Amino acid sequence: MSAHLSFFGAAGTVTGSRFLLEVKGHKYLIDCGLFQGGRSEKALNWEAFPVPPDRMDAVLLTHAHIDHVGYLPRLVRQGFRGPVYATEASHALLKIVLPDSAHLQEQDAAFANKKGYSRYKPALPLYTAADAEETLKLIRGISFDRPLGLDGVTITWRPAGHILGSAILDVEISNGGGSRHIVFSGDLGRYESEVMRPPTSLAEVDVLLIESTYGDRLHSDEPIQDVLAKALDYIVQREGVLLIPAFAVGRTQEVLYHIRQLQEKGRVPDLPVFIDSPMAVEISHIYCRFGDDHNLDVNLLMEEKECPLRCRDTHFVRDVEESKLLNARPGPAIIISASGMCNGGRIMHHLKWRLPDKRNVVLFVGYQAEGTRGRLLLEGAKRIRIHGEEVPVRARIFQAHALSAHADRDELLRWLSGFSRPPRHVFVIHGEPKSSRALQEHIQHRFGWEVSAPRTGEVYEIV
Ligand SMILES: [Zn+2]
Repeated sequence: MSAHLSFFGAAGTVTGSRFLLEVKGHKYLIDCGLFQGGRSEKALNWEAFPVPPDRMDAVLLTHAHIDHVGYLPRLVRQGFRGPVYATEASHALLKIVLPDSAHLQEQDAAFANKKGYSRYKPALPLYTAADAEETLKLIRGISFDRPLGLDGVTITWRPAGHILGSAILDVEISNGGGSRHIVFSGDLGRYESEVMRPPTSLAEVDVLLIESTYGDRLHSDEPIQDVLAKALDYIVQREGVLLIPAFAVGRTQEVLYHIRQLQEKGRVPDLPVFIDSPMAVEISHIYCRFGDDHNLDVNLLMEEKECPLRCRDTHFVRDVEESKLLNARPGPAIIISASGMCNGGRIMHHLKWRLPDKRNVVLFVGYQAEGTRGRLLLEGAKRIRIHGEEVPVRARIFQAHALSAHADRDELLRWLSGFSRPPRHVFVIHGEPKSSRALQEHIQHRFGWEVSAPRTGEVYEIV
C-alpha cells in the first residue's frame, strides 16, 4: 500500500492550512483554509488548487477559523462535492462563519468596484453566499473521541482547547497487521485558560504535524485582566474609545468574559460595550449548546443578566448602518468588531474613525499575520491605508498576549511530551519561518526527534 502527505499551505506561513493525505489512492484534505495577510498572500487564494477538487474523497476539519476553513466554498465552487467532516460545534460555527466570509468577499469586491481601487476590473469575490450555502450541505458533524472509518483510514477528533469545537486529528492508517498514526495538531489551546479546556494529550504517533504560531515566544504572564484594566483606565480618563479587533469566534467571547470579571470585582466602571458583529449573538448561543468544550456554567450562559459572556451594558450591533452610527458615539465606550487582523470587515471604518484620535486605544488580542494592517499597527506604523486613504495613527496601540488562543513555546513542548514514543518524523507547520525554526530547534534539543519545516508543495512518503 502507499500513503503520502502533501503540504499545500501553512508551510512557512501561518494561514492557508491545507494538507493532502493520500492513502491507497483515496484523497483526504485536512483543513481547507484561506490565505490571509497582504496582497501576495491573498493572491494565493486565486491560484488553481493543486488537485482537481472533484477527485477528492473528503475534507476533514480541525476547527472553524477562516485560515482553516475559509477556502471550502471556493473548493465547492470548483467542483468538490463532499463530504466535509467536522466536530458538532465546528459544524454549528461553520453555519455562521462561512456565509459571513462569503458576504465579506462579496462586500469587498463591491466596495473595490465602487471606489475603483482594485487592480482587477471588475473585482470579483472569491466565492459567493450561494457557494457557502452549497458548502454547508456537505458538512457532517462528528462527536469528539468517536472514531470515523473511511476508506483506508480511521479518524478521531480530540479536543484541542483552542476555540469551541477545535480538534486535534488522529488519523490511523491500517497497514497489513500494523497501523500508523498521523497526528494533525490543528491549533493548540492554552493550559491555563479560564474559558477553554486544555489540549488533549495523545499517546500514539508516527508522523506529527504541529503548529508553531508562537513557536519562538512565551506569552507574557501579565494577567489579562491587568492589561484590560490598564486600557480601560486610559480611555475612561480621556473619554476615549477602546477598539478591540477580534475574530467573532473565540476571542470576542473571552474578552467579554474578562471585562465582565473586572466589572464583578469593581475594578472597572460599567461602560457601554458594543459588539459590532451580526454573528456574536449566535456564537454565544453555541457556547450554551456545547458545554463540554469549555469551563463556563451553561445554566448561567442562558441567563441574560448573569451570562459570563456579556458585560453589564452590552449592545449587539447587527446592521451596517447601526455600526456606522457608532462613529459619532463619544467615549468612554468599548467597541469589539471583526476582522481580528484588520484586513476587512466592519473594523475598517472604526479604525478610520478612531485611529487619528490620541484619546483612543486599539487593543490586539489575537495573532496578527505578516502583511495585515494589524501587524503594521503593532509594529508602530505612523499611518496606514484604509479603503485607499492614508489614515494617521495617533491612538495608543496595546497588545494582550495572555488572551492568545494559541499555546506558546513551552505549552507546545508540554503537549509534545505527552506522546508515549518518539514520532518517526515531526513537521513544524503553521508559523512564520522564524517561529517554525525556533520550535524545530527546541524539539531537536529537548527530544532529539527528527523534525523539519516543510515547504509548500513538499510530499512525504508515509509508507
Ligand atoms: Zn485557529
